[in-house]
Amino acid sequence: MKNLFAIFGNPVSHSKSPLMHNLSFKGLGYDGCYARYRLENGEELRNKFLSLGLKGINITVPHKEYAYAACDVLDSFAQKVGVVNTIVKKDGKLYGYNTDAPGFLKAISEFSNIKSVLFLGAGGTAQSTAVILKDEGYDVTVLNRSKGRLEKFKESGFKTFTFETFKNESSYDLVINMTSAGLEDDSLPAPKEILKNVIPKSQACVDVIYGKETPFLKLAKSYDKPVKDGSDMLLYQGIIAFEYFTNKQYTFDEIKIEMQKAFI
Ligand code: NDP
Repeated sequence: MKNLFAIFGNPVSHSKSPLMHNLSFKGLGYDGCYARYRLENGEELRNKFLSLGLKGINITVPHKEYAYAACDVLDSFAQKVGVVNTIVKKDGKLYGYNTDAPGFLKAISEFSNIKSVLFLGAGGTAQSTAVILKDEGYDVTVLNRSKGRLEKFKESGFKTFTFETFKNESSYDLVINMTSAGLEDDSLPAPKEILKNVIPKSQACVDVIYGKETPFLKLAKSYDKPVKDGSDMLLYQGIIAFEYFTNKQYTFDEIKIEMQKAFI
């Protein structure tokens, strides 16, 4: 019988994950099938997972915190950040992992000599990626539109600013859009006056949004900065999730060859 997997979220119709994983199952000869499931109520995540007879799932917006709560066992990083995007069932227990953060870390590894990083945004994605970057020795500062979401970062020792308190003389090696600004609109993640100060002083700019050139990346390009969108992060989080799904029987590079066909 096939091993069944799915992505849970709301919405999920746009998700590339079914294509990424199904191409990899086929290419590697693994007996698996990956579907999408629109889950409205995150509190039902565990019961749905079990009643659908699944072996593993990925979780997307807005259920990553519910996914954390649904697990029996958490790996140490997921435990630390409180956000889970991959669950695998083993011996009747649900094991939770976060693959977004290591996926992001790998995606920015092509930029060398980066020490200081400015995050624009303080949502769930910023939360896990800020922690992994800090663990790796990067100096992360978080700038957010509103104050509320910055509290958690402050408690964890990050430097935090709102648009009103930000100091324009500051400079950062890498500036990263961690917001959804530009995803479905033409907005910038921070006021132009701030971006016009930090972008020229940076070495490169990154956006976690994928599949389009956001106003943020357009602005960065106008200053001749190297730019990168969120496609590699998506690919790498998928490869790491696939390793968990298949109990590490394929290497990262073997999976990458198949999974990247979803991006052609
Ligand atoms: P959340 O909803 O948790 O957080 C959204 C953040 O964006 C908040 O900090 C919010 O600020 C800010 N924000 C939203 N709109 C604007 C705006 N117009 N101007 C300024 N700030 C804004 O989102 P997630 O962290 O889950 O996702 C963030 C982004 O990451 C999304 O675009 C998502 O598509 C992308 N993503 C990409 C992945 C990949 O693999 N490439 C994986 C996961 C996510 P405030 O607190 O003031 O509301």
